Amino acid sequence: MDASDRDRKKVWKLQQRKLAQSAFPVADPLMKSLIEAVEAQVEDLGCDHTLRFTTSWIVQHEQPEAEILRWLHEHGGYCDCEVLANAADHLEQNR
Ligand SMILES: [Zn+2]
Repeated sequence: MDASDRDRKKVWKLQQRKLAQSAFPVADPLMKSLIEAVEAQVEDLGCDHTLRFTTSWIVQHEQPEAEILRWLHEHGGYCDCEVLANAADHLEQNR
């Protein structure tokens, strides 16, 4: 791979990241705090295959539920532990 290929790849990666970021339903620090809250509760109480901790965080913080849930579904987060396993990864890679 020559230098210009590398540059093109770098630009492409940056664009992909920007694109992913612009699709975040709420600002990055809020996403992070959602993931952390869900993580702590799943560790304590386990996942019951619903988004109970995710939705209770959304309600508590008065965030747009439909947008956040749609984003989570797009990234494989259909229950609290999947939010941690799938959506958190996507967030981590693109923030
Ligand atoms: Zn689960």
